[in-house]
Amino acid sequence: MVVQKFGGTSVADPDAIHRLIEIVRTARSRDGRGPAVVVSAMSGVTDALLAIAAAAGAGRVDDTISTLEQLRERHLSAARALAPSEADAALGTYVNAQFDDLVALVRALAVLREVSPRTLDVVAAAGELLISRIVAAALAKAGLPSEWVDARHAIVTNDDHTRAMPLSDDTDAAVRSSVLAVIDAGRVPVLGGFVGATADGDTTTLGRGGSDYSAALVGAGIGAVEIQIWTDVDGMLTADPRVIAKPRLVPHLSFAEASELAYFGAKVLHPSTILPAVRRNIPVRILNSRKPEGTGTIITAEPPPAATPLTALACKRDLTVVDITSDRMLMAYGFLRRVFEVFERFRTAVDVVTTSEVTVSVTVDNCRHLDAITEALSEFSQVSIEPGMALLCAVGDRLRNEPAIAARAVGLLEEVPLRMISQAASRRNITVILRQADLPHAMQRLHEEFFT
Ligand code: ADP
Ligand code: ASP
Ligand code: MG
Repeated sequence: MVVQKFGGTSVADPDAIHRLIEIVRTARSRDGRGPAVVVSAMSGVTDALLAIAAAAGAGRVDDTISTLEQLRERHLSAARALAPSEADAALGTYVNAQFDDLVALVRALAVLREVSPRTLDVVAAAGELLISRIVAAALAKAGLPSEWVDARHAIVTNDDHTRAMPLSDDTDAAVRSSVLAVIDAGRVPVLGGFVGATADGDTTTLGRGGSDYSAALVGAGIGAVEIQIWTDVDGMLTADPRVIAKPRLVPHLSFAEASELAYFGAKVLHPSTILPAVRRNIPVRILNSRKPEGTGTIITAEPPPAATPLTALACKRDLTVVDITSDRMLMAYGFLRRVFEVFERFRTAVDVVTTSEVTVSVTVDNCRHLDAITEALSEFSQVSIEPGMALLCAVGDRLRNEPAIAARAVGLLEEVPLRMISQAASRRNITVILRQADLPHAMQRLHEEFFT
């Protein structure tokens, strides 16, 4: 059996959910059981919920309640369209009760003027919890026996709220007893992605885009033969379609290549998705829910036999480069430890690192603690900050054995000022940091040369 994960646009409205139903029906009749279905919140809902929490925390109650009422209506109208009968009245009651709770919570937050990460997770999780119920009811209505599974009973995480880490052994066991049990009973389990709970039962979320990760955890837990990511593009493309007009489909990727692309900005896959798949050697397939007949992108342990020089490009915007300079770095050990300790203390991840004689340059995409980080680093070095930077990354297994490919890629960018260049030991990617304004041109140059 397979896991099928549907992203926000694939559950955006009743039409999209009708397409989902047919995709599930096809898988079920092919495999004779399952599939396990994981859904994201309807598109835009997570953003809206997070904005509501932020506004409530700032004491603005009226606009938050009116946005919540719009979200209530969007979910109720989907529920009415997909599961209209008397027998489905319980669904409407559930949706209303969830929104009543959210309204009460938001009012409380507005009084307290404070939103803790723990509370934020309760608000953010609502999108997936709601739509998964609606999809479960819609499948049943369409003649597919289904059962809603509360994701908080399946995905067990630590308590690092808003970016919780799943505990793999506990999650495997919980997925077997919640999701696999439903499949074994002949039904289609439907659960919300992105959401989990601590062992104590506190709601957590896995970080933005985390539904892909949930799907992979479910796939590993039930021993699926394939983890399918159904989205709004044909698969992994040779470049971000928001930057390059007509990128091509990459039919086959290795796990290692997919991990690097996801990590360096290919939003179509959450960077952690591959880990559970690798653990159990389960292929991951990316598919377009508007074109279910497509073959998509298949991601496996084995790299594709006839690889092109590069497999794909990825990019990330809104990065800040931090240069840390000190002559104490010269020939000294312990300096890098001090530097990275500061980033660790402020829980800020660093993407790319390069060093020269007396300077370490790093990029960060989360600037929440940048002032405090600068202050702490300034105790033992000079710090300079450059915002408005972007990362461009070329990925391909062939980079490992053919140094000429990296040379050609960097050579093509000769007119673009490159702030940092990095090729890590995997040698599967070559990454450059450049000004954000130069990104589209640089990306086009590489894409034309390698993919058209
Ligand atoms: P979903 O809601 O289905 O999870 P996402 O918005 O998270 O969808 O991811 C799909 C989007 O990822 C695409 O619409 C596309 O704009 C973006 N994307 C960025 N880079 C790539 C890439 N290399 N290949 C495909 N899509 C990409
Ligand atoms: N709904 C969540 C988000 O928008 C999770 C996901 O879409 O994968 O981040
Ligand atoms: Mg996504």
